[in-house]
Amino acid sequence: MTKVDLKGLDARETEAWAVEEGLEPYRGRQVRHWLFQKLVLSPDEMTNIPKSLRALLAEKASLVHLKMIKNQVSQDGTQKYLFQLLDGHFIESVLIPERDHSTLCISSQAGCAMGCFFCLTGQHGLKRNLSPAEIVDQAVQVKRSMEGPDRLTNIVLMGMGEPLANYDNVVRAVGNLIAEDGMNFSHRKITLSTCGLVPEIKKLGQDITVNLAISLNGADDKTRNFLMPINRKYPLKTLIAACREFPLPNRRMITFEYILIAGVNDRDKDARNLANLLSGLRAKINLIPLNQLPGLNMVPPSLDDIYRFQEILIKRQFTAIIRKSKGQDIAAACGQLSGGASEL
Ligand code: SAH
Ligand code: SF4
Repeated sequence: MTKVDLKGLDARETEAWAVEEGLEPYRGRQVRHWLFQKLVLSPDEMTNIPKSLRALLAEKASLVHLKMIKNQVSQDGTQKYLFQLLDGHFIESVLIPERDHSTLCISSQAGCAMGCFFCLTGQHGLKRNLSPAEIVDQAVQVKRSMEGPDRLTNIVLMGMGEPLANYDNVVRAVGNLIAEDGMNFSHRKITLSTCGLVPEIKKLGQDITVNLAISLNGADDKTRNFLMPINRKYPLKTLIAACREFPLPNRRMITFEYILIAGVNDRDKDARNLANLLSGLRAKINLIPLNQLPGLNMVPPSLDDIYRFQEILIKRQFTAIIRKSKGQDIAAACGQLSGGASEL
């Protein structure tokens, strides 16, 4: 018998499940409270529900989806969590402490099929999609392990995988991250990053309200084709058109991530192309000096060149921020997540 994944159901479905089991609907609400707010791992800890329901949960529901294998702490405070899925695959989540809050970077797939040139996650291919419960459980498990769990206010879907290639599961998971009776994160504090799957970007704007980040990395099709194979399917013109149509609530912006690679996309002309491409968009640009990966024959530009690139964008009235990578010493930085089973 397959067990029901209660962390993958919404409030209504959980109540319906309770009713199917011959219980009052409010029992479903109680169970959700224990799972998402009290963060318990076992039915035995659910002290205000009867023993019979605890036994039913133990028999019919699966409550924990990830096994924490390793937790590494970087010199800068960044923490990387290695989780094993029940079928043996590995995924990683990264907790980034900031001055007054923390941000958790979660994975949406084990591996990734998109094959971006500069990204380690992509080099190993796609193992499989994560279920909604596996996506949410990263936040549950990390929050449980934190010293100040209330500091965790921000979630970014920027770990392993392409979230929009696992659309339904990601949307369902985000539902439980923002539900008031779920993990109760503000939708303003959740950011989904995509390499640019245009049909799903359009759908996302209709289905949920979250912040959108686009991994751009090239401001002309030739450069972007070389770095990101997905650009052959959805070239810049269609991608940027979808961004222009994306519904943005008051004062929100779309974030464009641009990895700077010496001699590849860091010339003045690239900065000007980027400014032209994004002109008129409510856009914020994150400039990310390339993290070097083993076997990758590319390097980040010099600091001078990075500032020069930024300056051109600022002169064109863009907010352009240089993002220092965190957690490099424990391979927790962007593009370095590999579900590092080999390092165990
Ligand atoms: N698949 C999604 C989300 C995960 S990738 C996406 O591509 O947006 C997370 C981020 O890591 C992306 O912004 C990507 O551009 C960045 N990244 C990947 N490899 C990198 C590297 N070698 N150096 C710096 N950033 C990298
Ligand atoms: Fe996949 Fe994103 Fe890495 Fe590209 S950058 S391979 S889409 S995880």
